[in-house]
Amino acid sequence: MIKCVSGKKIYLTQEQAEEALVGAHTRFDYAKGHGPINVYQCEDCSYYHLTSKGTVNDVLAKRQKEGKIDRDKEADAWLNKLKRKHS
Ligand SMILES: [Zn+2]
Repeated sequence: MIKCVSGKKIYLTQEQAEEALVGAHTRFDYAKGHGPINVYQCEDCSYYHLTSKGTVNDVLAKRQKEGKIDRDKEADAWLNKLKRKHS
């Protein structure tokens, strides 16, 4: 397991980090201005981390604009409802 002095979670590629970034916004309702908004390549470990500073990542912005994240959230809520019914 690779570790970084920053203590942040490591993503091996920018694509992986972006996927995690979008995924985080699907799972959690971040208040405006909170939560990670972008990915960056780390100077210490040379891998990628999420950051809440800077500008909003293009991939994340595009997904949010398309409303994809809201749709995923609804699907999750529906699945959870189903799970509860059967347990
Ligand atoms: Zn690092």
